[in-house]
Amino acid sequence: MPSSNAQPLGRTRLVHAPEYNTDLALFGVDKPFALDRGELVLKQLAIDFDQKIPVLRPEPISDDQILLVHTKEYLDQLAETQTWLNIFEFKNEEYKADAAEKPLPELLDDIRLKCGGTRLACELALETGMAANLGGGYHHAYPDHGSGFCVLHDIAIAIRDLQRKLLVERVLIIDLDFHQGDGTAVIFKDDPAVFTLSVHSKEGWPDEKQISSLDVEIAEHETHEYLKRTKEAVLHSLNNFSPDLAVFVAGSDPYEKDVLPGTRFIKLSLETLLERDKFVIDTMADRQIPLAMVFSGGYGPDVWEVHYGAVKHLLIRSM
Ligand SMILES: [Zn+2]
Repeated sequence: MPSSNAQPLGRTRLVHAPEYNTDLALFGVDKPFALDRGELVLKQLAIDFDQKIPVLRPEPISDDQILLVHTKEYLDQLAETQTWLNIFEFKNEEYKADAAEKPLPELLDDIRLKCGGTRLACELALETGMAANLGGGYHHAYPDHGSGFCVLHDIAIAIRDLQRKLLVERVLIIDLDFHQGDGTAVIFKDDPAVFTLSVHSKEGWPDEKQISSLDVEIAEHETHEYLKRTKEAVLHSLNNFSPDLAVFVAGSDPYEKDVLPGTRFIKLSLETLLERDKFVIDTMADRQIPLAMVFSGGYGPDVWEVHYGAVKHLLIRSM
């Protein structure tokens, strides 16, 4: 590839590795986690930009980094299969122990790498203004247990690691996943240096919501107000808090093509979600607030389309 072709994309700001597309069948798991979202986004972008999109490969996070957020007891429990069964809550056919070639605790290597991706995207955002991890966003993980398919809280680990290195002080988390960022709310509950905004479905899981700095609940009959209320909430957060870094949890599960039965309460068009994601990216770029985007939830073969629109806009906006 001639180097002149690489010029329009400027600095590398996307983080990804082939291992992000974990072969869950090896672990005996059959769930529509859409772990190929990053790959599909990169493939389509390569067609659009007529060149291979450069990405940076993250380093897996260490125990030391995990322990900035999680308890030692929980980290030890991740060596046991039962802990993983509790986190993933498999139904009937979703997990077949006898079909598994690898034990579930070996998924930890995979998760360490994806958490390292969020850590790297945050650092790249601070250096370049905007970056994205084409995965991550495990906002349901709590310090002492995993929940809702989330094992380790990559965003909190990245923030705590950057704070201890004095690279950031104040961080805004903009969580627009269908589900509330309940783990995020709990981890940063008493921390005035981290502002947590969560816009989520009122009827959706988790049934018991936690208290974020700002929660915006969208009921099923209020779906037409989603965009307006989301924009207001982002601007309101910025009026009340001035961050050194914003982390955008850009879940694709409010998409009308998301296949998780639990996300039926909010069904947004691709156009609406693109406007949502452009608004967040443009607002931060206009205010020169470094922005790191992560994927979080999204289920089924079509949700990558949402992330594709967001990542493409991020690249165009940072040219
Ligand atoms: Zn979700």
